[in-house]
Amino acid sequence: MGAQIIDGKAIADGLRETVRARVEERVHRRQPRPGLAVVLIGDAPASLVYVRNKKLACEWVGMNSFEFSRPAVTSEAKLLDLIGQLNADERVNGILIQLPLPGHIDTNKVIEAISPDKDVDGFHPYNIGRLNIGRPVYRPCTPQGIMSLLEFTGIKLAGMDAVIVGRSNIVGRPLIAELLDKDCTPTICHSYTRDIGDQVRGADIVIAAVGRPGFIQGTWIKPGAIVIDVGINHLPNGRLSGDVDFESARQVAGYITPVPGGVGPMTIACLLQNTLIAAESR
Ligand code: NDP
Repeated sequence: MGAQIIDGKAIADGLRETVRARVEERVHRRQPRPGLAVVLIGDAPASLVYVRNKKLACEWVGMNSFEFSRPAVTSEAKLLDLIGQLNADERVNGILIQLPLPGHIDTNKVIEAISPDKDVDGFHPYNIGRLNIGRPVYRPCTPQGIMSLLEFTGIKLAGMDAVIVGRSNIVGRPLIAELLDKDCTPTICHSYTRDIGDQVRGADIVIAAVGRPGFIQGTWIKPGAIVIDVGINHLPNGRLSGDVDFESARQVAGYITPVPGGVGPMTIACLLQNTLIAAESR
């Protein structure tokens, strides 16, 4: 039969439409449009594309977007100074620093400089801490989007064994808290895990965030499992690939997300939703 495809683009379009309608309601009530500041240091091609997409997404829902592009040689002090100004700027409800930052800048220091109530990426230790005690304010966008995709299947998540491959601060680690909150039993794998295939074989939910094309093989997937592919890998032929070997995995899985058109659109939609929440809770 093959897996049902989870259409992240369609689900994200629905979420963006909801955000757009709420922004319009605010405008009718003469409340200010929500504003997102996007800071880009350097000109890495992938980052330029992400920043452009975030700007377009803001415009689509009627939010203001403020772009701050600075050269790669920008000092950490200058960047911290800019964040201080954005923290104080009333027009700005959310601040997003496009990662990765150049090596001479301490990413943790920069994230901690963002005011937690403008931290719409949900990366500040305050927001991560809130998530981990089950009282989130701003949830990191990619894990939040993944949970919406899981919920969209309509399958009862409680009691499921979930295996996440990848333990980054922006995807894998916050997913542990998200899955616990839904009464799943999460396991996280990384480059020191002894037998990842063996871990994945027992999983009702598999979430791949490794950054290696086709890393998760179809033979590892438990029949009927839900497979969420976070990976975005640019292949030499110009195409995009996820971290899951899609063709073999779809033969076995119950549900699977495609790349592109799965997790990616959800990340941006959740960013818009967080920015709206920031504006509404001012
Ligand atoms: P990181 O590079 O920060 O983390 C990768 C993780 O994978 C690490 O925990 C690493 O382990 C683990 N890993 C790498 N190689 C192996 C291996 N051979 N065996 C087992 N584990 C391995 O990546 P991110 O979390 O930032 O991103 C992961 C992928 O998701 C990328 O393709 C990225 O582009 C994509 N992404 C997509 C988003 C979206 O919106 N769709 C958003 C964010 C990311 P260790 O910790 O031991 O090094």
